[in-house]
Amino acid sequence: MKKFDYMAKYGYEQLVYFYDKETGLKGITCIHDTTLGPALGGTRLWNYASEDEAVVDVLRLARGMTYKNAAAGLNLGGGKTVLIGDASKVKSEAYWRAFGRYVQSLNGRYITAEDVNTSVDDMDYVLMETDYVTGLRKTSGDPSPFTAYGVYCGMKATCKEKFGSDSLKGLKVAVQGVGHVGYYLVKHLIEEGAEVIIADIKQENIDKVTNDFNVTVVNPDEIYGVECDVYAPCALGATVNDETIPQFKCKVIAGAANNVLKELHHAKVLEDKGILYAPDYVINAGGVINVYQEILGYDYDEARNKTRKIYDRLLEVYQIAKEEGITTAEAADKMAEKRINTMKNVRHNYIKR
Ligand code: NAD
Repeated sequence: MKKFDYMAKYGYEQLVYFYDKETGLKGITCIHDTTLGPALGGTRLWNYASEDEAVVDVLRLARGMTYKNAAAGLNLGGGKTVLIGDASKVKSEAYWRAFGRYVQSLNGRYITAEDVNTSVDDMDYVLMETDYVTGLRKTSGDPSPFTAYGVYCGMKATCKEKFGSDSLKGLKVAVQGVGHVGYYLVKHLIEEGAEVIIADIKQENIDKVTNDFNVTVVNPDEIYGVECDVYAPCALGATVNDETIPQFKCKVIAGAANNVLKELHHAKVLEDKGILYAPDYVINAGGVINVYQEILGYDYDEARNKTRKIYDRLLEVYQIAKEEGITTAEAADKMAEKRINTMKNVRHNYIKR
């Protein structure tokens, strides 16, 4: 791929390759935009088929973090790291410490955290060598309850926009995937009096939910066509696509999964079908909001208050969409871009501190 052309097109700042010959550590960090603050984004360890595949992934993910952090109202830019390797073979204390030293060498322009195939245990080693790592056991811990709380607040805002009331009492919500986030989401929904339908491919995760709550279980391939008010994707990406859209009977889509739309034009197809879509990176930002609190000095209540604001942010997105006649996905991008550009201007003059 023509990397500089791509970087110029989407305004990237930095793409850094690194290699450690002792441990075999091999990776790429991408810093997309640091207008709002240091670039924060997790580290993904994946056995990429080619170097190009890894570069495309890190570029795409880093830019996604810029939008997510900006839309969440955080003073963070967007970045990401991908490590190339087999997660079952490469991990060791030395591997993670070598990575930590490399993160430190970026001098705070990039802050890392967990992502696919990287754990809290791994980050404990990274912490031995750098000041720029978050998502730690000793502070903010598992982000999933915060993500779930944010999705719950965002679902209420989306229902207010669609149905005129933000109460979920008596509404039917179909939750796809009851893993880390889905479980806590179901808890919030049941507590508010919603009727919950779930599907998962792991029986143990279904059992955990049915043991604790009164829900209806359907087969994984039935969840799209379930008679419901809200579909909450909390499993995989791209579950809104040409095959699933004709099956939907819901009026709202609001869930935790990343990259819910298979293609951007599916936002318009949903709109035409009368389904209100809560843009994924706005509604699922509770985890990153919680991690950001770790940088400021961890405070549980403060993290929760900030997560609750996802409600207002989504109402703002829906307002922009209506005013400008664009989809909610496009409106979310506009909201994020506007914040970045406004802050750029606010900081144009010198003030001694
Ligand atoms: P998880 O792996 O703990 O849970 C996912 C669940 O989905 C699992 O129980 C899995 O068995 C189930 N699943 C997989 N394929 C399925 C299918 N075809 N049909 C039904 N169920 C299926 O993951 P998680 O941490 O709960 O995250 C859920 C989603 O939210 C992911 O897309 C993730 O990227 C996104 N997300 C998570 C967080 C977080 O804080 N954990 C933050 C932002 C976004």
